[in-house]
Amino acid sequence: MRQFDRSKEAYKQAVNLMPGGVNSPPRAFKSVDMTPIFMDQGKGSKIYDIDGNTYIDYTLSFGPLILGHADDRVVSGLQEAVQKGTSFGMPTLKENQLAELIKERVPSIEMLRMVNSGTEATMSALRVARGYTGRNKILKFEGNYHGHSDSLLIKAGSGVATLGLPDSPGVPESIVQHTITVPYNDMDSVRYAFSEYGDDIAAVIVEPVSGNMGVVPPQANFLHDLRDITDDNGSLLIFDEVMTGFRVDYNCAQGYFGVTPDMTCLGKVIGGGLPVAAYGGRREIIEKVAPTGSVYQGGTLSGNPLAMTAGYETLNALDQTAYEAINRKVDRLIEGYEQASIDYDIPLQVNRAGSMVGFFFTNEPVINFETAQRANVDYFAQYYRMMIEEGIFLPPSQFEGVFLSTAHTDNDIEQTIEAARRAFSKIEK
Ligand code: PMP
Repeated sequence: MRQFDRSKEAYKQAVNLMPGGVNSPPRAFKSVDMTPIFMDQGKGSKIYDIDGNTYIDYTLSFGPLILGHADDRVVSGLQEAVQKGTSFGMPTLKENQLAELIKERVPSIEMLRMVNSGTEATMSALRVARGYTGRNKILKFEGNYHGHSDSLLIKAGSGVATLGLPDSPGVPESIVQHTITVPYNDMDSVRYAFSEYGDDIAAVIVEPVSGNMGVVPPQANFLHDLRDITDDNGSLLIFDEVMTGFRVDYNCAQGYFGVTPDMTCLGKVIGGGLPVAAYGGRREIIEKVAPTGSVYQGGTLSGNPLAMTAGYETLNALDQTAYEAINRKVDRLIEGYEQASIDYDIPLQVNRAGSMVGFFFTNEPVINFETAQRANVDYFAQYYRMMIEEGIFLPPSQFEGVFLSTAHTDNDIEQTIEAARRAFSKIEK
Protein backbone atom coordinates (compact mmCIF):
# COMPACT_ATOMS: atom_id res chain seq x y z
CA MET A 1 0.00 0.00 0.00
CA ARG A 2 1.24 3.47 -0.83
CA GLN A 3 1.80 5.86 2.06
CA PHE A 4 0.32 9.35 2.02
CA ASP A 5 1.38 10.56 5.48
CA ARG A 6 2.90 13.82 4.30
CA SER A 7 -0.06 14.65 2.05
CA LYS A 8 -2.42 13.97 4.94
CA GLU A 9 -0.37 16.22 7.23
CA ALA A 10 -0.25 18.99 4.61
CA TYR A 11 -3.99 18.66 4.09
CA LYS A 12 -4.63 19.08 7.83
CA GLN A 13 -2.78 22.39 7.69
CA ALA A 14 -4.36 23.44 4.38
CA VAL A 15 -7.98 23.03 5.48
CA ASN A 16 -7.44 25.81 7.99
CA LEU A 17 -5.98 28.05 5.33
CA MET A 18 -8.11 27.53 2.24
CA PRO A 19 -11.66 26.28 1.74
CA GLY A 20 -11.39 22.50 1.53
CA GLY A 21 -7.63 22.94 1.68
CA VAL A 22 -7.49 23.78 -2.02
CA ASN A 23 -7.44 26.71 -4.40
CA SER A 24 -9.81 25.06 -6.89
CA PRO A 25 -12.56 22.52 -6.08
CA PRO A 26 -11.62 19.69 -8.52
CA ARG A 27 -8.39 19.20 -6.53
CA ALA A 28 -10.31 18.22 -3.42
CA PHE A 29 -10.80 14.56 -4.60
CA LYS A 30 -14.34 14.67 -3.19
CA SER A 31 -16.01 12.50 -5.83
CA VAL A 32 -13.52 9.67 -5.29
CA ASP A 33 -13.78 9.95 -1.51
CA MET A 34 -10.11 10.76 -0.91
CA THR A 35 -8.18 13.72 0.46
CA PRO A 36 -5.87 15.76 -1.78
CA ILE A 37 -2.50 14.39 -2.84
CA PHE A 38 0.11 17.14 -2.66
CA MET A 39 2.53 17.19 -5.59
CA ASP A 40 6.22 17.88 -5.42
CA GLN A 41 7.53 17.70 -8.97
CA GLY A 42 6.99 16.43 -12.48
CA LYS A 43 9.12 15.49 -15.47
CA GLY A 44 7.78 14.22 -18.79
CA SER A 45 4.81 11.93 -18.22
CA LYS A 46 5.63 11.39 -14.52
CA ILE A 47 4.66 13.24 -11.37
CA TYR A 48 5.98 12.75 -7.84
CA ASP A 49 4.01 13.52 -4.70
CA ILE A 50 5.46 14.80 -1.42
CA ASP A 51 5.50 11.26 0.04
CA GLY A 52 7.75 10.14 -2.81
CA ASN A 53 5.08 8.19 -4.75
CA THR A 54 5.52 8.22 -8.54
CA TYR A 55 2.67 8.29 -11.05
CA ILE A 56 2.14 8.31 -14.80
CA ASP A 57 0.10 11.48 -15.13
CA TYR A 58 -3.05 11.67 -17.26
CA THR A 59 -4.35 14.86 -15.66
CA LEU A 60 -1.58 17.13 -16.95
CA SER A 61 -2.83 20.03 -14.85
CA PHE A 62 -6.33 19.45 -16.34
CA GLY A 63 -5.06 19.79 -19.88
CA PRO A 64 -2.37 22.40 -20.44
CA LEU A 65 0.75 20.23 -20.38
CA ILE A 66 0.59 18.72 -23.85
CA LEU A 67 4.40 18.38 -23.87
CA GLY A 68 4.41 16.74 -20.44
CA HIS A 69 5.93 18.21 -17.27
CA ALA A 70 8.98 20.47 -17.26
CA ASP A 71 9.64 20.10 -20.98
CA ASP A 72 13.24 21.15 -21.69
CA ARG A 73 12.25 23.74 -24.31
CA VAL A 74 9.72 25.38 -22.00
CA VAL A 75 12.07 25.29 -19.01
CA SER A 76 15.02 26.82 -20.83
CA GLY A 77 12.78 29.48 -22.42
CA LEU A 78 11.49 30.38 -18.96
CA GLN A 79 14.98 30.43 -17.44
CA GLU A 80 16.09 32.90 -20.08
CA ALA A 81 12.95 35.02 -19.70
CA VAL A 82 13.02 35.19 -15.90
CA GLN A 83 16.50 36.71 -15.92
CA LYS A 84 15.11 39.65 -17.84
CA GLY A 85 12.33 40.46 -15.39
CA THR A 86 8.92 39.00 -14.73
CA SER A 87 6.54 41.76 -15.77
CA PHE A 88 6.62 45.27 -17.17
CA GLY A 89 2.98 46.12 -17.68
CA MET A 90 4.19 47.18 -21.13
CA PRO A 91 4.20 45.35 -24.45
CA THR A 92 6.98 42.85 -25.18
CA LEU A 93 7.98 41.02 -28.37
CA LYS A 94 6.86 37.66 -26.95
CA GLU A 95 3.24 38.83 -27.05
CA ASN A 96 3.50 39.40 -30.81
CA GLN A 97 5.21 36.05 -31.31
CA LEU A 98 2.60 34.02 -29.43
CA ALA A 99 -0.27 35.99 -31.00
CA GLU A 100 1.16 35.31 -34.49
CA LEU A 101 1.36 31.55 -33.84
CA ILE A 102 -2.23 31.49 -32.59
CA LYS A 103 -3.54 33.60 -35.48
CA GLU A 104 -1.78 31.38 -38.05
CA ARG A 105 -3.36 28.21 -36.70
CA VAL A 106 -6.85 29.15 -35.51
CA PRO A 107 -9.16 29.70 -38.51
CA SER A 108 -11.52 32.16 -36.74
CA ILE A 109 -8.85 34.37 -35.18
CA GLU A 110 -7.80 37.50 -37.05
CA MET A 111 -7.08 39.41 -33.87
CA LEU A 112 -6.95 38.48 -30.20
CA ARG A 113 -6.49 39.69 -26.65
CA MET A 114 -4.43 37.80 -24.06
CA VAL A 115 -5.85 37.33 -20.56
CA ASN A 116 -4.90 35.21 -17.53
CA SER A 117 -7.51 32.49 -17.20
CA GLY A 118 -10.22 30.70 -19.15
CA THR A 119 -12.81 32.36 -16.93
CA GLU A 120 -11.55 35.77 -17.98
CA ALA A 121 -11.53 34.78 -21.66
CA THR A 122 -15.17 33.63 -21.77
CA MET A 123 -16.39 36.45 -19.52
CA SER A 124 -14.72 39.01 -21.78
CA ALA A 125 -15.90 37.32 -24.98
CA LEU A 126 -19.50 37.58 -23.75
CA ARG A 127 -19.07 41.26 -22.98
CA VAL A 128 -17.71 41.86 -26.47
CA ALA A 129 -20.52 39.82 -28.05
CA ARG A 130 -23.12 41.83 -26.12
CA GLY A 131 -21.38 45.10 -26.95
CA TYR A 132 -21.08 44.20 -30.64
CA THR A 133 -24.66 43.00 -31.13
CA GLY A 134 -26.40 45.31 -28.67
CA ARG A 135 -28.29 42.26 -27.36
CA ASN A 136 -28.46 40.79 -23.86
CA LYS A 137 -29.08 37.08 -23.92
CA ILE A 138 -26.58 34.23 -24.11
CA LEU A 139 -27.35 30.65 -25.01
CA LYS A 140 -25.22 27.95 -23.40
CA PHE A 141 -25.38 24.18 -23.05
CA GLU A 142 -26.06 22.03 -20.04
CA GLY A 143 -22.88 20.33 -18.83
CA ASN A 144 -20.61 22.81 -20.64
CA TYR A 145 -18.36 24.69 -18.23
CA HIS A 146 -17.03 28.08 -19.21
CA GLY A 147 -15.38 29.20 -15.99
CA HIS A 148 -16.99 30.83 -12.98
CA SER A 149 -18.15 34.26 -14.12
CA ASP A 150 -21.70 35.14 -13.07
CA SER A 151 -23.38 34.90 -16.48
CA LEU A 152 -21.99 31.44 -17.08
CA LEU A 153 -22.31 29.77 -13.71
CA ILE A 154 -25.73 28.46 -14.54
CA LYS A 155 -27.47 25.20 -13.96
CA ALA A 156 -30.16 24.14 -16.37
CA GLY A 157 -33.71 23.89 -15.11
CA SER A 158 -35.87 20.97 -16.09
CA GLY A 159 -37.52 22.42 -19.22
CA VAL A 160 -36.40 22.09 -22.83
CA ALA A 161 -34.85 25.53 -22.99
CA THR A 162 -34.69 27.09 -19.57
CA LEU A 163 -33.74 30.50 -18.40
CA GLY A 164 -30.92 30.10 -15.97
CA LEU A 165 -31.06 29.16 -12.35
CA PRO A 166 -27.97 30.30 -10.46
CA ASP A 167 -25.62 27.41 -9.87
CA SER A 168 -24.18 29.14 -6.86
CA PRO A 169 -25.31 31.52 -4.13
CA GLY A 170 -23.93 34.95 -4.90
CA VAL A 171 -25.00 34.95 -8.53
CA PRO A 172 -27.94 37.38 -8.84
CA GLU A 173 -31.06 36.18 -10.64
CA SER A 174 -31.09 39.44 -12.57
CA ILE A 175 -27.88 38.31 -14.26
CA VAL A 176 -28.80 34.71 -14.98
CA GLN A 177 -32.14 35.69 -16.46
CA HIS A 178 -30.14 36.57 -19.55
CA THR A 179 -28.63 33.10 -19.88
CA ILE A 180 -30.63 30.41 -21.66
CA THR A 181 -29.56 26.81 -21.12
CA VAL A 182 -30.35 23.91 -23.45
CA PRO A 183 -29.14 20.28 -23.61
CA TYR A 184 -25.91 19.62 -25.54
CA ASN A 185 -26.28 18.05 -28.99
CA ASP A 186 -29.96 18.99 -29.08
CA MET A 187 -30.74 21.25 -32.04
CA ASP A 188 -34.50 21.08 -31.48
CA SER A 189 -34.04 22.84 -28.15
CA VAL A 190 -31.72 25.39 -29.75
CA ARG A 191 -34.34 26.09 -32.44
CA TYR A 192 -37.01 26.47 -29.79
CA ALA A 193 -34.83 28.91 -27.83
CA PHE A 194 -34.25 30.98 -30.97
CA SER A 195 -37.97 31.00 -31.76
CA GLU A 196 -38.65 32.39 -28.28
CA TYR A 197 -35.72 34.76 -27.78
CA GLY A 198 -33.92 34.97 -31.15
CA ASP A 199 -33.94 38.78 -31.46
CA ASP A 200 -32.20 39.17 -28.14
CA ILE A 201 -29.60 36.39 -28.34
CA ALA A 202 -26.16 38.02 -28.53
CA ALA A 203 -24.27 34.74 -28.73
CA VAL A 204 -24.28 31.01 -28.49
CA ILE A 205 -21.30 29.80 -26.49
CA VAL A 206 -20.34 26.15 -26.82
CA GLU A 207 -17.52 23.76 -26.06
CA PRO A 208 -17.01 22.28 -29.56
CA VAL A 209 -16.09 19.07 -27.78
CA SER A 210 -17.42 19.12 -24.29
CA GLY A 211 -14.74 18.30 -21.73
CA ASN A 212 -16.49 19.16 -18.50
CA MET A 213 -19.01 16.34 -18.24
CA GLY A 214 -16.39 13.84 -19.21
CA VAL A 215 -15.56 14.02 -22.91
CA VAL A 216 -18.63 14.39 -25.12
CA PRO A 217 -18.06 15.13 -28.80
CA PRO A 218 -20.57 16.99 -30.97
CA GLN A 219 -22.92 14.81 -33.01
CA ALA A 220 -22.74 14.84 -36.82
CA ASN A 221 -24.15 18.26 -37.82
CA PHE A 222 -24.41 19.92 -34.44
CA LEU A 223 -21.67 22.52 -34.90
CA HIS A 224 -22.66 23.23 -38.52
CA ASP A 225 -26.27 23.72 -37.45
CA LEU A 226 -25.19 26.11 -34.71
CA ARG A 227 -23.24 28.05 -37.32
CA ASP A 228 -26.32 28.29 -39.53
CA ILE A 229 -28.81 29.26 -36.84
CA THR A 230 -26.57 31.98 -35.40
CA ASP A 231 -25.95 33.36 -38.91
CA ASP A 232 -29.67 33.36 -39.67
CA ASN A 233 -30.48 35.22 -36.45
CA GLY A 234 -27.66 37.76 -36.34
CA SER A 235 -26.14 36.16 -33.22
CA LEU A 236 -22.47 35.39 -32.74
CA LEU A 237 -21.13 31.88 -32.40
CA ILE A 238 -18.43 31.55 -29.73
CA PHE A 239 -16.36 28.39 -29.45
CA ASP A 240 -14.96 27.92 -25.97
CA GLU A 241 -11.77 26.10 -26.94
CA VAL A 242 -10.10 26.62 -23.56
CA MET A 243 -9.78 22.85 -23.31
CA THR A 244 -9.90 21.74 -26.97
CA GLY A 245 -7.65 24.46 -28.37
CA PHE A 246 -4.39 22.95 -29.68
CA ARG A 247 -5.28 19.70 -27.98
CA VAL A 248 -7.84 18.19 -30.32
CA ASP A 249 -5.89 19.25 -33.40
CA TYR A 250 -3.15 21.53 -34.76
CA ASN A 251 -5.95 23.86 -35.94
CA CYS A 252 -8.07 23.33 -32.79
CA ALA A 253 -11.56 21.81 -32.78
CA GLN A 254 -12.76 24.35 -35.34
CA GLY A 255 -10.17 23.11 -37.84
CA TYR A 256 -10.93 19.49 -37.01
CA PHE A 257 -14.69 19.86 -37.54
CA GLY A 258 -14.50 22.47 -40.31
CA VAL A 259 -16.75 25.01 -38.60
CA THR A 260 -15.50 28.57 -38.10
CA PRO A 261 -17.08 30.51 -35.22
CA ASP A 262 -17.15 34.31 -34.93
CA MET A 263 -15.12 34.27 -31.73
CA THR A 264 -12.90 31.75 -29.95
CA CYS A 265 -11.74 31.45 -26.35
CA LEU A 266 -8.44 29.71 -25.66
CA GLY A 267 -6.56 28.79 -22.48
CA LYS A 268 -4.71 25.78 -21.04
CA VAL A 269 -2.33 24.64 -23.86
CA ILE A 270 -1.60 28.20 -25.07
CA GLY A 271 -0.01 28.89 -21.68
CA GLY A 272 2.05 25.71 -21.50
CA GLY A 273 1.31 25.48 -17.75
CA LEU A 274 1.44 29.18 -16.93
CA PRO A 275 -1.68 31.33 -16.48
CA VAL A 276 -2.57 32.35 -20.03
CA ALA A 277 -5.82 32.48 -21.94
CA ALA A 278 -7.08 34.54 -24.85
CA TYR A 279 -10.17 35.51 -26.77
CA GLY A 280 -10.16 36.40 -30.42
CA GLY A 281 -12.16 36.40 -33.60
CA ARG A 282 -13.02 38.49 -36.62
CA ARG A 283 -11.18 41.79 -36.70
CA GLU A 284 -14.34 43.95 -36.80
CA ILE A 285 -15.56 42.26 -33.61
CA ILE A 286 -12.31 42.31 -31.64
CA GLU A 287 -11.67 45.93 -32.61
CA LYS A 288 -14.66 46.80 -30.44
CA VAL A 289 -12.38 46.20 -27.45
CA ALA A 290 -10.67 49.21 -25.79
CA PRO A 291 -8.66 51.14 -26.76
CA THR A 292 -9.81 50.79 -30.41
CA GLY A 293 -13.40 50.30 -29.31
CA SER A 294 -15.52 51.08 -26.30
CA VAL A 295 -15.91 47.62 -24.71
CA TYR A 296 -13.57 47.73 -21.72
CA GLN A 297 -11.27 44.87 -20.76
CA GLY A 298 -7.72 44.95 -19.42
CA GLY A 299 -5.25 43.24 -17.08
CA THR A 300 -2.12 44.21 -15.11
CA LEU A 301 -0.38 40.89 -15.80
CA SER A 302 -2.01 40.11 -19.16
CA GLY A 303 0.59 39.03 -21.72
CA ASN A 304 3.35 38.93 -19.12
CA PRO A 305 6.66 37.70 -20.52
CA LEU A 306 6.96 34.46 -18.53
CA ALA A 307 3.48 33.32 -19.46
CA MET A 308 3.99 34.27 -23.13
CA THR A 309 7.28 32.38 -23.23
CA ALA A 310 5.81 29.15 -21.87
CA GLY A 311 2.95 29.40 -24.37
CA TYR A 312 5.22 30.24 -27.29
CA GLU A 313 7.64 27.38 -26.59
CA THR A 314 4.73 24.96 -26.24
CA LEU A 315 2.95 25.90 -29.48
CA ASN A 316 6.26 26.09 -31.30
CA ALA A 317 7.01 22.49 -30.38
CA LEU A 318 3.66 21.26 -31.67
CA ASP A 319 3.61 20.26 -35.31
CA GLN A 320 1.32 17.83 -37.13
CA THR A 321 3.71 14.97 -36.34
CA ALA A 322 3.39 15.63 -32.62
CA TYR A 323 -0.39 15.27 -32.83
CA GLU A 324 -0.11 12.09 -34.89
CA ALA A 325 2.25 10.59 -32.33
CA ILE A 326 -0.04 11.41 -29.39
CA ASN A 327 -3.09 10.14 -31.28
CA ARG A 328 -1.45 6.77 -31.93
CA LYS A 329 -0.91 6.37 -28.19
CA VAL A 330 -4.52 7.31 -27.53
CA ASP A 331 -5.62 4.67 -30.07
CA ARG A 332 -3.67 2.01 -28.20
CA LEU A 333 -4.90 3.13 -24.77
CA ILE A 334 -8.52 2.96 -25.93
CA GLU A 335 -7.97 -0.44 -27.54
CA GLY A 336 -6.56 -1.76 -24.27
CA TYR A 337 -9.43 -0.35 -22.19
CA GLU A 338 -12.08 -1.72 -24.54
CA GLN A 339 -10.52 -5.18 -24.41
CA ALA A 340 -10.35 -4.99 -20.60
CA SER A 341 -14.02 -4.03 -20.41
CA ILE A 342 -14.94 -7.09 -22.48
CA ASP A 343 -12.63 -9.44 -20.58
CA TYR A 344 -13.90 -8.36 -17.16
CA ASP A 345 -17.48 -7.54 -18.14
CA ILE A 346 -17.30 -3.91 -17.06
CA PRO A 347 -19.68 -1.50 -18.84
CA LEU A 348 -17.59 1.11 -20.65
CA GLN A 349 -18.23 3.87 -23.16
CA VAL A 350 -15.26 5.63 -24.66
CA ASN A 351 -15.59 9.13 -26.11
CA ARG A 352 -12.65 10.77 -27.76
CA ALA A 353 -11.48 13.78 -29.71
CA GLY A 354 -7.76 13.86 -30.49
CA SER A 355 -5.89 13.44 -27.22
CA MET A 356 -8.92 14.11 -25.02
CA VAL A 357 -10.55 10.89 -23.86
CA GLY A 358 -13.59 10.18 -21.72
CA PHE A 359 -14.09 6.76 -20.13
CA PHE A 360 -17.60 6.31 -18.75
CA PHE A 361 -18.75 3.27 -16.79
CA THR A 362 -22.01 2.75 -18.66
CA ASN A 363 -23.35 0.76 -21.60
CA GLU A 364 -25.30 3.60 -23.11
CA PRO A 365 -23.84 6.17 -25.52
CA VAL A 366 -22.93 9.39 -23.71
CA ILE A 367 -24.11 12.34 -25.77
CA ASN A 368 -25.11 14.98 -23.21
CA PHE A 369 -25.20 15.84 -19.52
CA GLU A 370 -28.14 13.57 -18.76
CA THR A 371 -26.55 10.45 -20.24
CA ALA A 372 -23.19 11.33 -18.66
CA GLN A 373 -24.88 11.53 -15.25
CA ARG A 374 -26.11 7.96 -15.61
CA ALA A 375 -22.54 6.55 -15.67
CA ASN A 376 -21.65 4.51 -12.58
CA VAL A 377 -19.78 6.79 -10.18
CA ASP A 378 -19.25 4.01 -7.65
CA TYR A 379 -17.33 1.93 -10.20
CA PHE A 380 -15.35 5.03 -11.07
CA ALA A 381 -14.40 5.72 -7.45
CA GLN A 382 -13.28 2.11 -6.90
CA TYR A 383 -11.29 2.12 -10.16
CA TYR A 384 -9.79 5.52 -9.36
CA ARG A 385 -8.45 4.48 -5.95
CA MET A 386 -6.98 1.27 -7.38
CA MET A 387 -5.28 3.21 -10.17
CA ILE A 388 -3.68 5.54 -7.62
CA GLU A 389 -2.27 2.44 -5.88
CA GLU A 390 -1.01 1.28 -9.30
CA GLY A 391 0.77 4.61 -9.85
CA ILE A 392 -1.59 5.97 -12.48
CA PHE A 393 -2.75 9.53 -11.85
CA LEU A 394 -6.13 10.20 -13.46
CA PRO A 395 -8.30 13.29 -13.08
CA PRO A 396 -10.22 12.67 -9.84
CA SER A 397 -13.70 12.57 -11.43
CA GLN A 398 -15.42 10.60 -14.17
CA PHE A 399 -16.58 13.95 -15.50
CA GLU A 400 -13.10 15.25 -16.37
CA GLY A 401 -11.21 14.38 -19.54
CA VAL A 402 -8.15 12.11 -19.57
CA PHE A 403 -5.22 13.79 -21.36
CA LEU A 404 -2.09 12.48 -23.05
CA SER A 405 1.11 14.32 -23.94
CA THR A 406 4.01 13.96 -26.35
CA ALA A 407 6.00 12.75 -23.32
CA HIS A 408 3.92 9.60 -22.75
CA THR A 409 5.80 6.53 -23.95
CA ASP A 410 4.49 3.27 -25.37
CA ASN A 411 5.65 1.68 -22.15
CA ASP A 412 3.55 4.13 -20.10
CA ILE A 413 0.50 3.15 -22.13
CA GLU A 414 1.08 -0.60 -21.72
CA GLN A 415 1.66 -0.16 -17.98
CA THR A 416 -1.58 1.82 -17.73
CA ILE A 417 -3.58 -0.82 -19.62
CA GLU A 418 -2.21 -3.54 -17.36
CA ALA A 419 -3.13 -1.49 -14.29
CA ALA A 420 -6.63 -0.86 -15.62
CA ARG A 421 -7.05 -4.60 -16.32
CA ARG A 422 -6.15 -5.42 -12.72
CA ALA A 423 -8.48 -2.68 -11.46
CA PHE A 424 -11.37 -3.83 -13.68
CA SER A 425 -10.89 -7.40 -12.47
CA LYS A 426 -11.36 -6.23 -8.87
CA ILE A 427 -14.29 -3.79 -9.20
CA GLU A 428 -17.00 -4.92 -6.80
CA LYS A 429 -20.30 -4.97 -8.64
N1 PMP B 1 -13.76 26.87 -20.44
C1 PMP B 1 -13.51 25.56 -20.49
C2 PMP B 1 -13.99 24.77 -21.65
C3 PMP B 1 -12.79 24.94 -19.46
O1 PMP B 1 -12.55 23.63 -19.53
C4 PMP B 1 -12.34 25.73 -18.38
C5 PMP B 1 -11.56 25.12 -17.21
N2 PMP B 1 -11.53 23.78 -17.11
C6 PMP B 1 -12.63 27.07 -18.37
C7 PMP B 1 -13.32 27.64 -19.42
C8 PMP B 1 -12.18 27.96 -17.25
O2 PMP B 1 -10.81 28.13 -17.30
P1 PMP B 1 -9.98 28.59 -15.99
O3 PMP B 1 -10.07 27.46 -15.04
O4 PMP B 1 -8.61 28.85 -16.52
O5 PMP B 1 -10.64 29.84 -15.50
